[in-house]
Amino acid sequence: MQIILKPNSSTCNNNCDYCFYKNKPNRGIIDEKTLLAYYQQSVIAHKFFGFSTVNFSFQGGEPTLLGLDFFKRAIKLQKNINCTNSLQTNGILLNEEWCKFLKSNNFLVGISIDGPKELHEKHRKNFEQTIKGLRLLHKHKIPFNALVCLHEDNINNPIQIYDFLVKNNVVYIQFIPIVNENPFPSVEYGNFMIEIFNKWFSRDFGKIFIHDFEQCLQIIIGKSPTQCIYRNYCGHNPVLEANGDLYSCDHFVTDDYKLGNIHKESILELLNSPKQIAFGKAKANVSSNCKSCKLFYICKGGCPKNRKNKLNCLCEGNKIFIEYILSNFNKIIEKISIHSSLLP
Ligand code: SF4
Ligand code: SF4
Repeated sequence: MQIILKPNSSTCNNNCDYCFYKNKPNRGIIDEKTLLAYYQQSVIAHKFFGFSTVNFSFQGGEPTLLGLDFFKRAIKLQKNINCTNSLQTNGILLNEEWCKFLKSNNFLVGISIDGPKELHEKHRKNFEQTIKGLRLLHKHKIPFNALVCLHEDNINNPIQIYDFLVKNNVVYIQFIPIVNENPFPSVEYGNFMIEIFNKWFSRDFGKIFIHDFEQCLQIIIGKSPTQCIYRNYCGHNPVLEANGDLYSCDHFVTDDYKLGNIHKESILELLNSPKQIAFGKAKANVSSNCKSCKLFYICKGGCPKNRKNKLNCLCEGNKIFIEYILSNFNKIIEKISIHSSLLP
């Protein structure tokens, strides 16, 4: 469960051309009253759903534009709350001071980078500042994920991207296919993931962690996936805008999916509202293809925002790479056993 906060709404300093959030109405900057309500109500909602700790997730737009002083005050307001914090950033403003703060407050950071400069700058900007930020995170030993958006301009460069990330000491990698109104190269996506798998499995197994492989393997061995995309239902990843408006999900911040405002109803009430329950259940309303698909237990029909007429735009790609993981499952188990036997 994660209640994503947009403390400065959609304000950003990078204006990436594929950003799904940049044209959202800007709700300004969060005030102290709303921040405190976010903290207190999140704790209650997490407790209700059986979680003893809360992760406060600062996303945007670009939250670092609020400045370090804002974040110092925000952390002070968390006194007596058993919580962790995460920050999603484009890395542009990260410097020594920021990194000292993030490290001393145990932040987990997500940094968006689409590969080396020539690929990164196909749709994003400011590669030099981003890579400088990423290297500072590494220098300060701050745990971070690289979030790599996939699109037609980098989907045929899996090894170039992967080797670049590994060379820059990235350990946790999440690939995010950008599905918009244009057709997404789904088969290429499947082949991309296979290339990554082969390189990872032969060289970096146990050292580098690829989010989708982890999620699939978790399901195959009978554990619950942590990411909403691989779960049966949506509903536990709402977005809180700077003015206190709560929405069903980061990808559904529209009037139709506004649940209410946390100054009028609590986050828990809004999460338990018929509107949010219906939103959550709608994920299971899949196509007949999915209903008869032998991979449905892993794929779950994908994220609803990637579906057109109930069909998942990533279907073909998912089939290609999930089948490949399944066909390599015995080899993976064998490698896990070897790794475990080498542990002290
Ligand atoms: S719509 Fe997609 S991103 Fe949102 S909660 Fe559902 S699976 Fe997750
Ligand atoms: S692989 Fe395709 S058909 Fe199978 S569950 Fe996923 S989206 Fe549905």
